[in-house]
Amino acid sequence: MNPSSASVPKQVKLDKESELRIEAANDSPLRLRLVTGSAEIFGTELPPEIWLSFPPRLKFAVFTWYGATIEMDGSTETDYIADETPMVSYVNVHAVLEGRRNRAKASSSTDSDASQGPRVIVVGPTDSGKSTLSRMLLSWAAKQGWKPTFVDLDIGQGSITIPGCIAATPIEMPIDPVEGIPLEMPLVYFYGHTTPSNNIDLYKVLVKELAQILERQFAGNIEARAAGMVINTMGWIEGVGYELLLHAIETFKANVVLVLGQEKLYSMLREVHRSNPNVDVVKLQKSGGVVSRNAKFRQRARSYRMREYFYGITNDLSPHANIANFSDLFIYRVGGGPQAPRSALPIGADPVASPVRITPVNIDKDLLHVVLAVSYAKTSEEIISSNVAGFIHVTDVDIQRRKITYLAPSAGNLPSKFLIMGTLAWQET
Ligand code: ATP
Repeated sequence: MNPSSASVPKQVKLDKESELRIEAANDSPLRLRLVTGSAEIFGTELPPEIWLSFPPRLKFAVFTWYGATIEMDGSTETDYIADETPMVSYVNVHAVLEGRRNRAKASSSTDSDASQGPRVIVVGPTDSGKSTLSRMLLSWAAKQGWKPTFVDLDIGQGSITIPGCIAATPIEMPIDPVEGIPLEMPLVYFYGHTTPSNNIDLYKVLVKELAQILERQFAGNIEARAAGMVINTMGWIEGVGYELLLHAIETFKANVVLVLGQEKLYSMLREVHRSNPNVDVVKLQKSGGVVSRNAKFRQRARSYRMREYFYGITNDLSPHANIANFSDLFIYRVGGGPQAPRSALPIGADPVASPVRITPVNIDKDLLHVVLAVSYAKTSEEIISSNVAGFIHVTDVDIQRRKITYLAPSAGNLPSKFLIMGTLAWQET
């Protein structure tokens, strides 16, 4: 397991069913190409002979089913070959899902149960490889011509959009190993915090909203219905975290539960679903290649994710600095404030915070560096049930002139004047 800082490209020969695990260096990019044979990165095949550039810090594996030679140029934190991987068991799961998709497609479209393809939910503790397995299953399905829906419920390290959101998007092509999930038209709900304990009820409400919209889309789209979903979840699996997993399984009507790397969670979920023949609970081995990330690393990863939203993964986007009057924007916060003043409650009752009540936010210096979601709501009442168009980042608040400067992905008016604030903030470094 040694770092390399090759000035000349280094050739690596991979035997069949082995993988080259790489952590790119912290400060310099890495180039890599497939010289002979065939290989894939998390389910997406590498094109032959073409140099691919990977940004610093990326952790990934180049896996080959039949053998390959790879050429690497640049420095790495670590790179090593592993011949023990759980890939055969993962691809076997894919084959079973494929069978279910084909059966759903062949069935009569009027039978809503039979025409429903697999709804897979991937669960497990933090750093068990949930996102990676989700990605592989989606890319293998897309390679075979399906357009499965990816649902990401991980508000801490989501892979569809910025942290603090739950989101869904169809995957039409194998996922690009560098660019990640294409951001054409994701369906995004803004939760606003990176841990569900900030407002558990709101998290559940948003999961329900997202599931309802997808249910409606599936009802009118036989192809999407047969391809099914792959749902990625958070690594919080104890106590309330476990309740939230059960809530997600039920709300999305998941029929395949893949449990990664934890016997206890597997046996608990199997027990709960023992009497339900519609839910298969399957235990899968965690890959030895999954890299553990500490709290500091996760915090930094969230910050990079926000930067990527505005500037692009390869710095190919140019966000705009825009100015708005205080009076042009309506900013709301969800939850928090007391539901009713003590005087309006029965004697002895305490005012409780309403988790999904919205309250207007006064514009002041506290908004500096805050990331706000731009809601599609047409009235303030619609804020909870509406998905969001995108995000802005407040870079200046001029109290005297009553103006806000913010960074947005593009110039021009915002698609809506209703903005949602959580606890997400970001500072450009
Ligand atoms: P979270 O706790 O955030 O939900 P997770 O369980 O989804 O994490 P992943 O994000 O899939 O875990 O994996 C953690 C890290 O390990 C990622 O950076 C991923 O790219 C890397 N990784 C996963 N599998 C491998 C592998 N076989 N070789 C090298 N790196 C890997």
